Amino acid sequence: MSTTQPHQQEPHQFPLSTAQLSCLCGTVKEPGTLLVPSGQSKTFPVASHMCHCNSCRYVTGNILLSGPALTTSPSRASLAHCTAYATSAQFVRYFCTTCGCHCFTQNMAIARKELDVTTDPSSASSCPDEAKIESDDEEPEWYTNSGLIERDPAQIEADAPWATDLVNTLSHMFIADTLDGGIVPRLSNPASTKIPLFMDGYSDEATSPGSATSLESVLQLRLNNSKSTSPSSTASSSCLKAACHCGSVKLSIRRPDYAVDTQGVPARYIAEHATTKYPAWFCACRSDRTGNGAWFAQPWTYIPPANITFTFPVDDDDDPEGDERQVTVADVFQLSSSSSSPPNLPSGSPSTATATAKEAVSARLSQHRSSTSTTRSFCRTCGATVFYMHDERPSVVNVAVGILRADDGALASDWLDWVPGRVVCPEETTERTLLRALLG
Ligand SMILES: [Zn+2]
Ligand SMILES: [Zn+2]
Ligand SMILES: [Zn+2]
Repeated sequence: MSTTQPHQQEPHQFPLSTAQLSCLCGTVKEPGTLLVPSGQSKTFPVASHMCHCNSCRYVTGNILLSGPALTTSPSRASLAHCTAYATSAQFVRYFCTTCGCHCFTQNMAIARKELDVTTDPSSASSCPDEAKIESDDEEPEWYTNSGLIERDPAQIEADAPWATDLVNTLSHMFIADTLDGGIVPRLSNPASTKIPLFMDGYSDEATSPGSATSLESVLQLRLNNSKSTSPSSTASSSCLKAACHCGSVKLSIRRPDYAVDTQGVPARYIAEHATTKYPAWFCACRSDRTGNGAWFAQPWTYIPPANITFTFPVDDDDDPEGDERQVTVADVFQLSSSSSSPPNLPSGSPSTATATAKEAVSARLSQHRSSTSTTRSFCRTCGATVFYMHDERPSVVNVAVGILRADDGALASDWLDWVPGRVVCPEETTERTLLRALLG
């Protein structure tokens, strides 16, 4: 049995063996030793790129994905608890079927090579993330996600100082997909270590000099984008679309006017100076981290359930045209709100229509009761984190920022008011330097 002495470890020197990879519900569990060490010492930090591409955001609901490599395949037991979803011909993602945590990614180009099957390069996905990454023999077949990394209770006492900088970020890549730079400017220079920035995929500076971009160019993205969307956006921005990667969960969000009607929303969830926007911030608590998996923090925005409408195709013989129906989150989940009557109620008898809608929504959305008073929802097909609901505040629902499809980019600045410096549960963080960067 290991007798690791965490108190004697210097920061950054925690052995991989003191960590485990775990989803929120605990059915997916792997030892930290499965991570590829950065050096000979087999200690943290491990290396990972931060991917800001559309696929990574839409499939996880997070604003980016950080995926450290694994030395070998996760166990059969862990994979048996996962649902597989291919975001392209090259990458298959695995999320926990019970809690929705995004656990692993398999690089099929490497998997097929190992099986000695020739791959047709023309079958590569149009997704920039996946199309431009070349697979060579040194590339790993399996990756995990950094949100799964935490102390292993079997190796480390609960009150022992453990977490520090677990992941060393090699690059920020596919920044162009964000349209507005996402949160790259806040994370580009943590602890005064400049991280290489790439509009597209990562390239080695040694073989492709000049392929990295500058922070100024990233900031310029946002300026250009806000110029091109702001003057004419008033008409189109009365509705914000959201959708998971597979499109099974589709939402329309209407704009609040909290100056006129607070809709029973507690003051904490109303942006003080932007009453026609929704507030947004990160949470670093263990349940958000391991319920999502993509990263050490989860960005949420907080929206009255009457303002969120599900759109789903009608699937019955009476309607061969394949019409769409709509129902609000308030109706589906029977959440109270002081709002006036929600728009786009299903037609027909309310009870039948609502029952049909509930059925359609539950066929698409998996619900995980993550504590006695909280429920997490994720797409059954692709695993995207969608909602978090707390029984004690039914007037507001957390919506995962990563699934928003705002015209002005990943930060959805025309809709969201990012509360500067607010990260919930900072004491539960597994990443100290990145936390400081988020806190600003
Ligand atoms: Zn799980
Ligand atoms: Zn990606
Ligand atoms: Zn989906």
